[in-house]
Amino acid sequence: MSVQIRFWGVRGSIPVPGPTTVRYGGNTPCVELRRGSELFICDSGTGIRELGFRLLKEFSGGPLDADVFVTHTHWDHIQGWPFFIPAYNPKSRMRIYSAHGVGAGFEQIFRSQMAHNFFPVEINDMAAKLEFVRVEKPFQVKGVPVQTLFTNHPGVDVAYRFNFPGASVVYLTDHECHRAQGDDSDFYAGQDKLVAAFCQGADLLICDSQYDDNDYKMKRGWGHSRWRDAVELAAASDVKRLALFHHEPTRSDDAIDKMVAQAQELAREMKKSFELFAAREGQEIVL
Ligand SMILES: [Zn+2]
Ligand SMILES: [Zn+2]
Repeated sequence: MSVQIRFWGVRGSIPVPGPTTVRYGGNTPCVELRRGSELFICDSGTGIRELGFRLLKEFSGGPLDADVFVTHTHWDHIQGWPFFIPAYNPKSRMRIYSAHGVGAGFEQIFRSQMAHNFFPVEINDMAAKLEFVRVEKPFQVKGVPVQTLFTNHPGVDVAYRFNFPGASVVYLTDHECHRAQGDDSDFYAGQDKLVAAFCQGADLLICDSQYDDNDYKMKRGWGHSRWRDAVELAAASDVKRLALFHHEPTRSDDAIDKMVAQAQELAREMKKSFELFAAREGQEIVL
């Protein structure tokens, strides 16, 4: 059975609606993976709101059974959750996965974004049955093997690899290339090799590519890759498709087009022929 990937939010850090972001979109991360009626959701940034409306329509307002994979609890990856309307249906069941956070459990941190001082409705008012699952070792969801890897990002952040039969998808955001942050020593190179092994041969790699060389002068150590790091990772791991993702909020649509052209040029120079594009809100891919 084929797997459909739909991008509902592709922007990093903060939502940026407006005329210069209308083509690629201004919502923060949310990616839907679908196999038939089985629903895998990566992150609950502001893009999850529109996904919720789409699901209400598709399932005629009926209950949902969904697995939600949260990379980490930085705002841009969770701030859409209170607006995910299917979670207010008492018959819905949702499992929310992530790693233990810094200084507190994931569930506690995730719930606290809906504390009274931040939001008028508490998470307990979301009537769906929510189960928080701490990811520890490779596991299976609906028969699909799922692997995890800690990324190089301030705090705790998890990448996910979904090994659907015939369609492997890696969701790797937010992540900074180890060598770019450190140096060319064997230690940092070895860390990058672990990341490449995690991505090896994937049919689709959705990868943080927030910065360009210029941004990186100021933002080294902030936990994000340059687009060239994403291209190098895709090349090193022989993936079939690379989706540049978690776009810098100041990057206009035209600037993203330019980034894609430069990234494709780099891939050509490396004599690599994988498909390369910038993820766009509303885009669908079938594997
Ligand atoms: Zn982010
Ligand atoms: Zn982050």
